Amino acid sequence: MAEKYNPQKTEAKWQQKWEAGGLYRAVIDPAKPKYYAMTMYPYPSGDLHMGHWYAMAPSDVRARWMRMRGYNVLFPMGFDSFGLPAENAAIKRGIHPQKWTYANIERMRQQLRSMGAMFDWERECITSDPSYYKWSQWFFRKFYDMGLAYKKMSPVDFCPHCNTTLAREQVWGEDRHCERCGTPVIKKDLYQWYFKITDYAEELLDFSKMNWPERVRAMQTNWIGRSEGATVVFKTEIGGHELPVFTTRPDTLWGATFMVLAPEHPLVKELTGEEQRAEVEAYVAKTERQTEIDRLSTEKEKTGVFIGAYAINPVNDERIPIWIADYVLMTYGTGAIMAVPCGDERDFEFAQKYGLPIPVVVAPRDWDGQPFAEAYTGPGTMVNSGPFTGYPTIGKYTLAEWTAELAEEYGLPGKLTPDTEGRMAVTRWLEEQGTGQFAVTYRLRDWLISRQRYWGCPIPMIDCPTCGIVPVPYEELPVELPFDVEFMPTGESPLKFHEGFRRVTCPRCGGEAERETDTMDTFMCSSWYQYSYMDPTWQDGQTLSPDDVPYKPDQGAYWLPVDQYTGGIEHATMHLLYTRFFTKAMRDMGVVEFDEPMKALFNQGIILGEDREKMSKSRGNVIAPDDLVQEYGADTVRGYLMFGFRWDQGGPWDSNGILGVERFLDRVWELVTRSSATDGGPPSAGHLRELRRKQHQAIRRVTRDIESFSFNTMVAGLMEYTNALIDLRNQAPGLAGTAEWQEAIQILVLLMAPGFPHIAEEMWARLGRPYSVHRQSWPTWDETLAKEDVVEIAVQVNGKVRDKIELPTEIDQETAKARALEAGGIQRYLTGKTPVKVIYVPGRLVNIVVASK
Ligand SMILES: [Zn+2]
Ligand SMILES: [Zn+2]
Repeated sequence: MAEKYNPQKTEAKWQQKWEAGGLYRAVIDPAKPKYYAMTMYPYPSGDLHMGHWYAMAPSDVRARWMRMRGYNVLFPMGFDSFGLPAENAAIKRGIHPQKWTYANIERMRQQLRSMGAMFDWERECITSDPSYYKWSQWFFRKFYDMGLAYKKMSPVDFCPHCNTTLAREQVWGEDRHCERCGTPVIKKDLYQWYFKITDYAEELLDFSKMNWPERVRAMQTNWIGRSEGATVVFKTEIGGHELPVFTTRPDTLWGATFMVLAPEHPLVKELTGEEQRAEVEAYVAKTERQTEIDRLSTEKEKTGVFIGAYAINPVNDERIPIWIADYVLMTYGTGAIMAVPCGDERDFEFAQKYGLPIPVVVAPRDWDGQPFAEAYTGPGTMVNSGPFTGYPTIGKYTLAEWTAELAEEYGLPGKLTPDTEGRMAVTRWLEEQGTGQFAVTYRLRDWLISRQRYWGCPIPMIDCPTCGIVPVPYEELPVELPFDVEFMPTGESPLKFHEGFRRVTCPRCGGEAERETDTMDTFMCSSWYQYSYMDPTWQDGQTLSPDDVPYKPDQGAYWLPVDQYTGGIEHATMHLLYTRFFTKAMRDMGVVEFDEPMKALFNQGIILGEDREKMSKSRGNVIAPDDLVQEYGADTVRGYLMFGFRWDQGGPWDSNGILGVERFLDRVWELVTRSSATDGGPPSAGHLRELRRKQHQAIRRVTRDIESFSFNTMVAGLMEYTNALIDLRNQAPGLAGTAEWQEAIQILVLLMAPGFPHIAEEMWARLGRPYSVHRQSWPTWDETLAKEDVVEIAVQVNGKVRDKIELPTEIDQETAKARALEAGGIQRYLTGKTPVKVIYVPGRLVNIVVASK
């Protein structure tokens, strides 16, 4: 009786040996093709949970497999270690965020090691280490020098629970809640730092240089929100001042019956008539007392004042009154809008309130010719629109989106071209007239990166009362985060109250100045961590300069960019957008030569609790991987995470499922390590051929499944192969003494190696093979040997041979009948007839008896 497999002992043994011998160190080898596999690094919350395992273990399987296929694989790991939970722990429990974070990292490192992944720990990056964040600050400085970082006052989203601002990407849902804690956000006017991601809006819409999931591309496209329209120039009746406006609906220009300027628009004073002056000045003064937030509030009733001047509508030379209203801001667009009451709800309300005309210019399909009771924004036919009356307009749709169904729904011609569709025809006409031009806007806004918190990367900037904003010189980086601060949830950075940090000498004039006390959004740190893995100690102890390269060049030249990234879809419009922006900016600063950070991306799903709810401490449905590793071993946990779910989907945990994987590993262990019993005579040629076939089929299947991230079917394939070997040995015990059997068993161990690295290593050793199984080449298959034995079968209809098909010799009756019914050559004999009987004569024929209807 063979001894039972002991995962606890075996796994610890091999983990130590792998680490001691540096088995997974990624060393540059120009002779080998490189493969940079990266999985999203964790936040050091203090506990590696099932979600981490689910994301990382299958990523490790694929990295290991690429290595066996001859690639030089880099698979690094690190910690995204700045962030709010550390600071909250400090406020709640009085532990310093740094101590809390580094203790958690220590613990999670051990947990990560227990997974048996091939992480190269010598490249570990920790974003809260000064050696890391001095580069985060270097990036900030470079962005500032390039005009990609700027500071401005504006209304920002603020989480009253987290006591900090949030980027637009971090505000989720209809109720606009904080992505971290779920609290509805409020608006605050703050002077904050932004990154100009909008400079790259158009380029970020181009996904042609990467293989990313359709879903992520769609989410990013939607988030960037490109919209096309026209800039149209109105002129004031007196003075001929130009008032450009942007509109997505140039087809509604004939319906513009008034213009609205922001009260602070520079022309307001000059244009205001004597009669209106007192009222206008009072309104401007009232507006000045309001915050942008109040002005943009959708609940507030719209107010405005006519200033006594007129503009000329360039499409029909009509004079339209100019108003001012507080909901138009100078900081958005041009500070002027054209108002089309029939095609915009806000303009409609405003026109109704102040008795302004509401002519109809786009008519819905069944329009009765009467004035509108409310605005109509959909597709329709242009009316009262000069030379364009009668043109169809598809409203907010693009020609690419315009389908036959939509054409039918709106009663418009199906096929439209830029010449025949109203909005586009008007745009071209405006260009010919010289009164407007095609223009594009984006929903994407610049990335707000200031956070009013302590545990983050300090922003390397100084406010000088004499010089204004002055950057910290490169050679003074990093600006170190002081340790001794008071943690108070005041809504302002604790650094603000740290005199030693805050007070500084201005590098420009030498006068007294103040450091920026906000810290950076942690998404800034994670935007470039793939470069830090090149060498996390890069330039340690060296002074930095603007001419540096932010990663070790020889390492980067070999490994970059990332070939395969894996992680959650929840980062689609945050991390995954930001890191693309960073890489494009790095290209423009001349430190990388590629455009995209990660060539390929795969998103795994989410593991739920047994109650089908998200795992959380408050629900009490958390399954801790540590306990399972203790009980079953890491290979079994890895195996269940692969086998129990489709990796891209995830699903609810099932405690029984893990037992199935445990039994499978026991079976494999028994099969591989049982001393080769040679009882029974030599096996038949048929058995040997079948053994060969199963082996080559298994290699083919497992290879294809890992390639396509289909880990559940990969494990199923290994189970089938194991069962097939057991069956064959039972049928022909003599097999076990043959060289063919030895080969088939070795192949099983090799196929097991990426998914079950510890037990595979142990079995490999027990087979007397040289260390390590993880240095072996991935086996290849031979299509001829993998092919099933087939036999030609005649397919008859009512006794007459109508076709011949090839079927595997051991096919079952039902499958054979089904395949015969699908045969191409018999279909015309079946039309209009019902098969009443199908007879299968194994190895010879299928006869289909049909009756006419
Ligand atoms: Zn929050
Ligand atoms: Zn100064």
